[in-house]
Amino acid sequence: MDSLHSQAPMARPGHIDPVPVPRVVTPRADGKIDLLGRSKDELKQILLDAGLDIKQAKLRAKQLWHQIYNRGATQFDAMTDIAKSMHGWLDDHFVVERPEVIEAQVSVDGTRKWLLRAPDGEDYEMVFIPDADRGTLCVSSQVGCTLNCRFCHTGTMRLVRNLTTSEIVGQIMLARDALGEWPSQPEGRLLTNIVMMGMGEPLYNFDNVRDALKIVMDGDGIALSKRRITLSTSGVVPMMERAGREIGVNLAVSLHAVTKEIRDEIVPINRKYGIEELLQACADYPGVNNARRITFEYVMLKDKNDRDEDAHELVRLIRKYKLPAKVNLIPFNPWEGSCYETSLPEQVRRFSNIVFNAGISAPVRTPRGRDIDAACGQLKTSSEKKSRAELDRLAEEKLAALG
Ligand code: SAH
Ligand code: SF4
Repeated sequence: MDSLHSQAPMARPGHIDPVPVPRVVTPRADGKIDLLGRSKDELKQILLDAGLDIKQAKLRAKQLWHQIYNRGATQFDAMTDIAKSMHGWLDDHFVVERPEVIEAQVSVDGTRKWLLRAPDGEDYEMVFIPDADRGTLCVSSQVGCTLNCRFCHTGTMRLVRNLTTSEIVGQIMLARDALGEWPSQPEGRLLTNIVMMGMGEPLYNFDNVRDALKIVMDGDGIALSKRRITLSTSGVVPMMERAGREIGVNLAVSLHAVTKEIRDEIVPINRKYGIEELLQACADYPGVNNARRITFEYVMLKDKNDRDEDAHELVRLIRKYKLPAKVNLIPFNPWEGSCYETSLPEQVRRFSNIVFNAGISAPVRTPRGRDIDAACGQLKTSSEKKSRAELDRLAEEKLAALG
């Protein structure tokens, strides 16, 4: 591993470690600065630092912002509202990057998955899920995840690093490139919703996720409403209030169990922030009301968390904290080596009915893109799978040499 690398991934330190990661962006080999993922103020400052006077910097920052986030421009010579004489100078100093696409797959159900590679060789994924009335992009916040939930494939990845603001915004830019969605239009969009439910725990990469979503929500650019963005957390309680205040998007919470014993086992962060503390933080989440409910995600694991009494307890807890809530029941998506089974469809229905009869919406989510490993919890980059295959091959070679 290159120890000089400022974004170097680190070994997963343990079950529930918050892993603070420095925000430094790895400089490009050609010395150019990537303008993607900078705030408006940062953009202006970058232009000032590069030698423009304040008046020019302000004007050019505004124009660049519009070109990058409204028109989707990546080449300076395509930015026709910027004086031609500036194009060469911009080219010499800056780039507008996109993540590198290693693989793009399309499922039989129309779900698309992209495997992306960062300049340091780390891979991450994003998934686009088209529906009749909406199109949802499932965005990653980290390479891997430190939290190690027992049913989640991402949690088994050996290495973890935070994605930069540019890498997070880059996912949305790339999806819009692929969908042909430039310039930004208020109506008729294919990509209408964003969920921070890809790889990683977004609240462990708070600053970058916040800054990226602020760019996505900015009215002069992509202009996606905060009502169409959902951030999912496994329960990083101390960061939830800030998420509500500083980002203001919808909140989803990966609850998955209603007793300490079971949640401790399947969502290990529960040993640090327990269920009651988590639900209190949900009740305190800024801006929550009946029109903006909290979504509780509940992965249905056979004979683990799917009994009738679990459903009743879930209702009791939601009532106790007076939470405007809905429950998303996600049938467990198995992966090779996982130690759980998917609940029986009858039991999922029973569970859903119990919650629904208590007046709480509890739809069962149909898994999407299973054939391309794009469903919830299946994200684990194929580069890692390949490296394991590579290891197997090496092991076989070794054995052959010995034999
Ligand atoms: N780290 C965040 C967001 C990413 S996970 C979180 O945990 O909330 C997105 C959702 O998929 C979470 O609710 C997660 O618990 C769920 N999930 C993970 N593995 C799964 C699997 N194998 N089957 C079904 N859902 C899974
Ligand atoms: Fe991380 Fe979420 Fe997977 Fe848990 S479910 S390991 S928090 S990505």
